[in-house]
Amino acid sequence: MRDAAGGGAKVRPVERRRRFAIRTYGCQMNQHDTEKVSSLLLHAGLEPAGAEESADVLLINTCSIREKAEHRLYSDLGALRRWKEAAEGRVLGVGGCVAQQEGAGLLDRFGHLDFVYGTHNLRAVPDLLRSAAGGRRGSRTEELRSLERFDLPPRHPRAAGASGARAFVTVMEGCDMFCTFCVVPRTRGREISRPAASVLEEARRLCEAGTREIVLLGQTVNAYGRHDLRRGHAERAGTLPFAELLRRLAATPGLRRLRYTSPHPLFFDDELVRAHGELEVLCPHVHLPLQSGSDRILASMRRRYDAAAYLGIVRALRRARPDIAITTDLIVGYPGETEADFGATLDLMEEVGFTDSYSFKFSPRPGTAAAGLPDPVPAEVASERLSRLQALQRELTLAAHRDRVGSRTEVLVEGESRRGGQASGRDPYHRVVNLLVPPGRPLPEAGTFVPVRVVDATPHSLLGEPEPSEPCQAAAAL
Ligand code: SF4
Repeated sequence: MRDAAGGGAKVRPVERRRRFAIRTYGCQMNQHDTEKVSSLLLHAGLEPAGAEESADVLLINTCSIREKAEHRLYSDLGALRRWKEAAEGRVLGVGGCVAQQEGAGLLDRFGHLDFVYGTHNLRAVPDLLRSAAGGRRGSRTEELRSLERFDLPPRHPRAAGASGARAFVTVMEGCDMFCTFCVVPRTRGREISRPAASVLEEARRLCEAGTREIVLLGQTVNAYGRHDLRRGHAERAGTLPFAELLRRLAATPGLRRLRYTSPHPLFFDDELVRAHGELEVLCPHVHLPLQSGSDRILASMRRRYDAAAYLGIVRALRRARPDIAITTDLIVGYPGETEADFGATLDLMEEVGFTDSYSFKFSPRPGTAAAGLPDPVPAEVASERLSRLQALQRELTLAAHRDRVGSRTEVLVEGESRRGGQASGRDPYHRVVNLLVPPGRPLPEAGTFVPVRVVDATPHSLLGEPEPSEPCQAAAAL
């Protein structure tokens, strides 16, 4: 089976001038799936709609990582009955992790839903759409344990994410880790890695078209190729150790920034640490999920590392790249979490000095091992812990940001800032930097690199003054 990042799979046209919109929830993998589906629909002859109201086809790309996200789909679908009925011939589809879990059950539950597509069946969307246009409802959610799911036509030049300075590239999908709280192994299936040649070719094409920052995606991205290596199949499968893949990607002409998300601490080896010290294009930022600072809770979560091992990685990374920014994911209120366990998480947060974190209350997901655990933490206790944890993170983030005041960096502009009137983007440390552009000067365009001096810090972002285009430290490090 071909893995055609720029391969030859053909998509039959559906029809001209139908307009589509995709509502996306969840992680970067989901965002990238939306880009892939929008590319498929453009190849099939549809046009992007400016807004859902003007769309003929509306897809919802769902997330089921937490109960709240799943409930949002059900309330969205209820509300979208009116959207569907407001114009003749409208088509409504659901994809993503909830679709993978619930499959055709969603069609039974929502009579106005036309089709359902799973995380391995993006390629089926044009066919499902064609059938729906002919009045046939359908569901495609079978798990594919082959590279078939990557066999997509080349990115359509008008697809979301196809022409920007920053692009996602999937290197592996699925997860075999089965952490007790996580639905991903059930919604994304078993680990599978793309051949390195295909990843390198996709990166080459992107950079040739103007991409300057590539973000490698995988549920446990640094587990890339591990099964092939362990079984001695790497040559046949065309995979490499992850650090070697980074080294080869770093040589892509035109590439200025390389990132990856999310690694698992268990697969963070010495070679990967070394790559951070040696590869100039590899950004000085690692998002390394911790989940808990308590060894007891980590063991119960089946995370397969302890706090000491995690700290060992952080120290090694800081030896290799002293300025590296480390961010993380944290869960509070996991079943059986005591105040002492929670205290261990706060202690570890301070010890590492996380630049930022995503933190959530434990949410039991159906079918996961943790859903059946005794000793739940009362909701009000979990909420109070989450508030304390987030207050600590705000302090840590502000301290990290204040340390940056006076330094120079380089911002890849993403567009206008949230408050408007300023350009905003990210620096190599993945920090949001709002640019102080003098009145009367045009804002720098999205996709441009702007050297700046950091002049102020808040818990959410940095403020940077654009500098004349002289070389700056971070740019030199890129
Ligand atoms: S490693 Fe990550 S994706 Fe895999 S089961 Fe654990 S939390 Fe989920």
